[in-house]
Amino acid sequence: MIERKFKRIVIDAQTPIAKTGNGLAVGGKVNNLLLLGNGSENSKDDSKRYLMKGIRGWINHAMMALAKEEGVEVCHSSSKTETQSGVNLLPEGFHARGKCLETEECIQHRLMGSISKPSKLKFEPVIIISTASKGKINDANTQKMHIATERRNSLVHKTKAAIQDFGERYFGGEFTIKIEFLEEVTKEELGYLLKGILNAQEIGLGAAVNNGSGKVNIHSVELQEVIRSQGFDKNGKVFEEEKIRNLKKEKKEGMKAWSKANA
Ligand SMILES: [Zn+2]
Repeated sequence: MIERKFKRIVIDAQTPIAKTGNGLAVGGKVNNLLLLGNGSENSKDDSKRYLMKGIRGWINHAMMALAKEEGVEVCHSSSKTETQSGVNLLPEGFHARGKCLETEECIQHRLMGSISKPSKLKFEPVIIISTASKGKINDANTQKMHIATERRNSLVHKTKAAIQDFGERYFGGEFTIKIEFLEEVTKEELGYLLKGILNAQEIGLGAAVNNGSGKVNIHSVELQEVIRSQGFDKNGKVFEEEKIRNLKKEKKEGMKAWSKANA
């Protein structure tokens, strides 16, 4: 049997409706939220899985917004500082991503990293399947949500292929986000991340946030210690199990550790 011990954050969230596509987030950066699936929209197979994209960027922006609000300079999500014609692209209160490594590494960079240094956080892919799906879900990582497609008939060409391309998907319901810590996270960094997650509700997820879609309610956030073991059962089949312990005290300490004063 092999065992691995790590910490993670588990977020239980709910969205009434979130649309796919592109939308504006903090700092004018485009936040992509896409549902990716195999097979055709017209297929009878309703067990299609989709990857919810944009979760990492969403929480990244929520932390950036929090830092700005508290007057703490952190990395911007972009590493570009100006356009070719010399126009400044960086909003006030941010430095280009990774620039702080030359002087003093900011809290955003310590958590999220850049091209020069890997992130301490691993966002587990959020994979969803339609609640209408009748088949059995075989893997523990797939979550059931309401998924539907709004047809954009005005854009459609008279070919079947184009219909697939112009349908705008949306989804709604409850979902869980897991963020694994790849290395030790300080109390201060933990607090910054937790407060960023709370702030993410204010920002909204994905496209058309301003039109009332993309609202996300966060119901609970837990800090867990996980011991994951894998081994073989009597029949030689691989099994995996997780022993989970809630780290309530550590979470509380983290919430206290990060504020304007000591960032
Ligand atoms: Zn930085």
